[in-house]
Amino acid sequence: MTRFPLPPNATIGLVGGGQLGRMSALAAARLGYRCHILTRETDSPAAQVSHGVTISDYSDPVSLRAFADVADVISFEFENVSAEGLDLLASIRPVRPSPSVLRISQDRVDEKTFLNGAGVATAPWARVDSRRELDEAVRRLGLPAVLKTTRLGYDGKGQATLRAMADLDGAWARLDPKPLVLEGFVDFAQEISVVVARGDDGALSSFDTVENRHRDHILDLTLAPARISPAADQAAQAIGCRVAEALDVVGLLAVEMFIDSDGKVLVNEIAPRPHNSGHWTIDACPASQFELHIRAIAGLALPSATRHSDAVMKNLIGPEGVALWPAAVAEPGLIPHLYGKAAALPGRKMGHVTRLFPRGGLPGDFGVNAALGVLGG
Ligand code: AMP
Repeated sequence: MTRFPLPPNATIGLVGGGQLGRMSALAAARLGYRCHILTRETDSPAAQVSHGVTISDYSDPVSLRAFADVADVISFEFENVSAEGLDLLASIRPVRPSPSVLRISQDRVDEKTFLNGAGVATAPWARVDSRRELDEAVRRLGLPAVLKTTRLGYDGKGQATLRAMADLDGAWARLDPKPLVLEGFVDFAQEISVVVARGDDGALSSFDTVENRHRDHILDLTLAPARISPAADQAAQAIGCRVAEALDVVGLLAVEMFIDSDGKVLVNEIAPRPHNSGHWTIDACPASQFELHIRAIAGLALPSATRHSDAVMKNLIGPEGVALWPAAVAEPGLIPHLYGKAAALPGRKMGHVTRLFPRGGLPGDFGVNAALGVLGG
């Protein structure tokens, strides 16, 4: 039987072999834990730095059982494990965050229903089960609007912006699986996020609110801290903590939000795991998002999520990002991170760099670009 806090040398089972698993495993190793990865990939970024790996589909009960047997606690960097798979894992070992949290975050309709039920504002939305319901939803929410799959969407995949009635047929035909969800278009002033850790005793530790800039629907830059009004910052922090408590999450929760043109904070989506917009914390905080994630699931005390520096994080995406790597490593002042992926497919997150500034010294856009040197936009 697993006892918390996990003792040194205990094994943490991580579902998913990507960069979030890799950076979680590195943080776990520093705390004296071993990680065992469950992934479909041979030579995955997470397995390269871990104690063990099970290579299998996420739905094979024999492999899920073998994976759970070697772990003391199980967590995730990849949330889309089937309900049966989650139940099987949870019948063998503690799963943190719990399967109920994962189920809510796997489905945009469940997620929005949960958020609105917890008193958290989102863009107006409607579940769409048929082409006729899409017409009704567009009549109600107006255009432009964003049509999304309810499951398996990320980095802008599985969504379409509808600007005119002529866009409806094509988007309905293209987006799968059904049902879909239609969201009112948010004319946002800024996109921000909050990453908060919650321990098994309910203690909360929340990193500063950050601003996120996307390119082609993929995160490009994170600025820490966000340059927003104190009121918006307080609202964002309160929402992050309220959602973590309402979910009863043990582990890490990332909450992505919009600040609309009236200054109102709306939640876009949540992820109960480390998040790309928290990578800056590795270099700018005494304890990173990955350390807080491991501490929370291991039942260790949570330190406060303070930052000692301001920071800019820039993603290295696809072949263009990899082409910049030699220059990024040579550029004084950039802190480089590469994820060990063999193939640089377009849109794939290959690595990132962080640039630190003295606390309170984050420059404006011009200064940020200059500080990124060869990587400046
Ligand atoms: P998502 O996959 O939901 O995180 O969406 C990816 C990106 O698409 C977001 O970061 C926004 O830049 C944009 N986006 C998503 N939903 C909306 C919306 N309702 N209104 C405006 N932009 C959106």
